Amino acid sequence: MTLALTPPQVFSAFPYSPPYPIQAGLMHHLYECIEHKKVSIVESPTGTGKTLSLLCASLTWLADEKDRARKGKMVAYASDNGPDWVIAQTMERHRRELEAGEAEYEERLASARKKEASLKKMAKARVTKKPKLNHDKTQPSDPSDDAFLPEDGALVDDKSTDNISPALRALMAKVDQVSNRGPKPDEPEPTCTKIYYASRTHSQLSQILPELGKLKLQSQSNAAVPVLSDAEPPSLGRKRPDGEISTDDELRPQWRAVSLGSRKQLCINDELRARVGDLDEKCRELLGEKKENRCQHLPPVDEDSKMVDFRDQILASPKDIEDLAAAGRLAHACPYFGSRRAIPQAELVTLPYNLLLQKTAREALGIDLTNQIVIIDEAHNLISTILSLATTRVPFHTLDTSLSQVSIYLTKFRTRLSANHVLHLKRLITFLEALKRYSTEWLEAAKGKKQLGGGVEVMTVAELMQRVGRKAESINMLEIESYVRSSKIARKISGYSDKLAETAAGQDPAKLAQVRRGATPPLHVIESFMLALTSANDDGRVCFSVTGQPNQEQVEIRYQLLNPSTPFRDVVDAARSVILAGGTMSPISDVVAQLFSHLPQDRLSNFTCGHIIPSTNLQTLVVCRGPRGADLEFKFDRRGDKSMIAELGQILSNFINVVPGGMVAFFPSYSFLNTVKAEWTTSGTMEKFNAKKKVFLEPQETTDVESVLRDYAAACHTSKLSADKGAKGGALLFAVIGAKLSEGLNFSDNLARAVVIIGLPFANLSSPELRERMKYVNRLEAKSNVQKKFGQKDAAAELYENMCMNAVNQSIGRAIRHRDDWASLILIDRRYASTPLRNKLPQWIGEGTVITESFGVTMKHMGEFFRNKRTLPS
Ligand code: SF4
Repeated sequence: MTLALTPPQVFSAFPYSPPYPIQAGLMHHLYECIEHKKVSIVESPTGTGKTLSLLCASLTWLADEKDRARKGKMVAYASDNGPDWVIAQTMERHRRELEAGEAEYEERLASARKKEASLKKMAKARVTKKPKLNHDKTQPSDPSDDAFLPEDGALVDDKSTDNISPALRALMAKVDQVSNRGPKPDEPEPTCTKIYYASRTHSQLSQILPELGKLKLQSQSNAAVPVLSDAEPPSLGRKRPDGEISTDDELRPQWRAVSLGSRKQLCINDELRARVGDLDEKCRELLGEKKENRCQHLPPVDEDSKMVDFRDQILASPKDIEDLAAAGRLAHACPYFGSRRAIPQAELVTLPYNLLLQKTAREALGIDLTNQIVIIDEAHNLISTILSLATTRVPFHTLDTSLSQVSIYLTKFRTRLSANHVLHLKRLITFLEALKRYSTEWLEAAKGKKQLGGGVEVMTVAELMQRVGRKAESINMLEIESYVRSSKIARKISGYSDKLAETAAGQDPAKLAQVRRGATPPLHVIESFMLALTSANDDGRVCFSVTGQPNQEQVEIRYQLLNPSTPFRDVVDAARSVILAGGTMSPISDVVAQLFSHLPQDRLSNFTCGHIIPSTNLQTLVVCRGPRGADLEFKFDRRGDKSMIAELGQILSNFINVVPGGMVAFFPSYSFLNTVKAEWTTSGTMEKFNAKKKVFLEPQETTDVESVLRDYAAACHTSKLSADKGAKGGALLFAVIGAKLSEGLNFSDNLARAVVIIGLPFANLSSPELRERMKYVNRLEAKSNVQKKFGQKDAAAELYENMCMNAVNQSIGRAIRHRDDWASLILIDRRYASTPLRNKLPQWIGEGTVITESFGVTMKHMGEFFRNKRTLPS
């Protein structure tokens, strides 16, 4: 029996002593969750050191767990039979063996660190030259058509589902056999308990390693080397002021971490990158065993020690994606495959959402989550990300192009393909033709309905297959999908089509650019669509819709998942512990209902903490009435009401008199913002705003976001706080909830001294997809037989309200980004005064909310709040 670990009294690895109580609370909670194999939802506001606390607690548990495992082995040896002195000798021998093993591993990593340091020095010493493109004579410049034939043995009964070619598999197997430092032949790569730390964007992921570098914790795997004192903590990857990593730091034992990324981020074959759009496919063509069809950055199959060295180098010091690519260039080894080789022995793996959440991606990478710890940061978007990863869109031209590509391929290679391939390709063509016929007929029938507000139809997968089945005889979708997946024929057909397109484009740069655009090949889209259809049950729907302008209408087919817990369940069931962390996870009941309703209550826990700011730095107001005394409710049908728009103008005019610096006002939709803007422009209200604060509007194009924000930031800093006249100058930004400016941006300090939310951003109930989701959750609720409390909403209404509050919380979370920040958060709509809605605000925002029934009281509260801030630096 093993004893349970208890969280340490003091997390000595934490770099700031003592931590704030909420940081200590979070670390304590996380440690307990991991130890007791729980799933937890953690809400910790931005600016409270969330990432640092998550890393510190999880790595402390990992170190303690290794220690426990080591002691467990020793206890097992101690239970051997025999005289005491024999047992003592045996234990001593095993202790030395364990230590020797750890020391040997650390020696390897230490030598990798030294090698990396000298490579960097050599690179620096060289005259800086612009890196030349690799003119690799071994690259096939004009691959013969043979390359587009299916691989031998990859027929229907091949159950392999990953993306690693047999050649690469052989390579990987040989690596371990050849290298005297790898596992012996037939031994699986040893793997250790690890933390998978996922985040949504590249920039969020790039913030993890600098936080890791702040920890004082030392990997237990490095226990055989002298322990550093607290006075001189290991500063992992810490850069000196001149931007260089100090030699001491380079050589210090460090956590074994690896960052995973795509080929697009990590491939160092410049010639290949410059050649065509589908980098993945072109790389796969260079994984052969012979020199002429092998990438120059992969070692020959029979001498793989270089790759093992590079793997050690990756693990020797934490590297982000850019560092990894640079290290690959220095070592002349592929960072994409090198990082995958480092996974088994890594203690921390950072990766984007899609690599963690998609089963096919996990299998391709060899990621096995069994008993591992999964931390998903910035998880407020997790549900929408899971749903969107499971959604496949097939525009009509994709379907049409796929059909013609398969037909051309079959005509070209028919005589060289086995009978089995010909048979299956014919079946694929039959399915695509039938789907095309049905889509065309559907479009003709739906065109008229679009003018009547229709043009959309949602059906189950069974219904679709029945309708498509009527257009052709005997379509066995399971068989077709299985063939396409196992034969990987889509890659071959797409590759051949690319070649034809490149030849046709000739030297025309515009046409070539189009070929190299890098969009997902059409047949790959069809493959994903077929996979979705064959794996769906009651929780998936197919939606047909009319798109495009009148007289140019097209049909789009879309597969949509209704239940996000289905794909996520694999992660939850396999992992030891799953932590969803975010600055604003509220409403937490929504996350539980959508992702974890199948879990027993005792496996679930949550942690919500306040902010580290003093309570006087935050004001939350719910404004129920305007200056004319009108009740404020911006319901959809009242959004054209001119008197209410005029009243809203007066409200904001009053606010900008007292708010210094920047003020961001969020509207529930673009259409409402446009209506209001037009009305205020005509009435002269916009001009009045501009006289006090410079007005900015959320840009229509994503490419304009940066310049608008830059100008807005500059204008915010023109504000002055005057003791007698209130605010002067600054800027006013009109934005839309859930659009370009409501997530991921940091409106700290003067960029947002007030965030105003106008109305409630309920989703459009006429959306067929939303209606299907709502019907689905109600059906699930009915099946569960759980008795509802009196007055409790049904599951669909709850989902609808939660989606709305989730969006509101993201927008108000843009302000108050650090300990000394301060701002007023103002919710304009009477409906926010209801207890159920207020309970869905993050706790740290909701608990101090003041509901004002008259506008005079609103202004009194705001005046007091900002007067108290006049003594602070702005
Ligand atoms: S093996 Fe690596 S470097 Fe070579 S093409 Fe593939 S991803 Fe690029």
